[in-house]
Amino acid sequence: MSDFSTRDGYIWRNGEFIEWKKANVHVLTHALHYGSSVYEGIRIYNGIPFKLREHIERLFYSASKIGLSIPYSTQQLIDATLACIERNHLERGYIRPLVYRGSETMLISGEGTSTNCVIAAWNSFDQKRNEAREKGYTLTYGSYKRPLAGCFPYDAKSAFIYTVATIMKNEALAKGYDDALILDQSVHITESTTSNFFIIKNNELYTPVADCFLNGITRQTIIKIAQSLGIKVHETKLTKEDVANADAAFITGTAIEMMPITKIEDRNFPIDHSLFTQLHNAYKETIAKYSVA
Ligand code: PMP
Repeated sequence: MSDFSTRDGYIWRNGEFIEWKKANVHVLTHALHYGSSVYEGIRIYNGIPFKLREHIERLFYSASKIGLSIPYSTQQLIDATLACIERNHLERGYIRPLVYRGSETMLISGEGTSTNCVIAAWNSFDQKRNEAREKGYTLTYGSYKRPLAGCFPYDAKSAFIYTVATIMKNEALAKGYDDALILDQSVHITESTTSNFFIIKNNELYTPVADCFLNGITRQTIIKIAQSLGIKVHETKLTKEDVANADAAFITGTAIEMMPITKIEDRNFPIDHSLFTQLHNAYKETIAKYSVA
């Protein structure tokens, strides 16, 4: 299995490029113990980072939600990301900016910790994703529920929410499914472990209101594309029953892009619903036409 720590390349850290293999942290780093970090996932298509500004702005927002002040400007991180792509000669790939509290204290307050900022970028895992897309994804309901909005900064892309995502993803895989679909504290669907969720019913689009989970940039892009194509989009509460009665379903996210869902628990869905295909083609077109200008 490949190990991310032994790759070649350069990582931008706190204002300068360092060799990939030297981008280490101490074991007593605050973020490692208390999840005090925020990050982004950005795709590179044709050498261009898709929706870079939106992602970097979300990184700043997420940092502010967990009490971190990034010691750079949005433009500086945008420039650093572009330099990182160039330095690593990437045409297609994935970028992972990360902001985390350093090792200056083990106090929960994180008082006096440094705010560290890294940007790593590498060739991505397209082949596996594309193969998966040919088959679609299967989902099972997760064993944990998303906390209420008042329980945590749900709109921050912070490390702390991913502990539960890892648990539920592995539970789903162990049961023979690809991912988990997560309910809120009531009876409503939220999202999957790392992607937003949509259903299609009577050629209209339905997606849960992002009131206790991340309102993904891909989700927002798909909604805009659908509206521009004259497709009706409902951001609304959805139950298991709504899902069982849907004509088709899919999930969205930067890494997964658009993934058709072929099964939720024991209910099967078509992989090739015409509305999904239309939206997927429009999404691919949006990516192809995208430029930072
Ligand atoms: N929800 C969660 C929990 C995620 O980790 C992601 C991936 N960032 C998404 C939704 C989708 O967000 P985006 O489309 O911005 O990648």
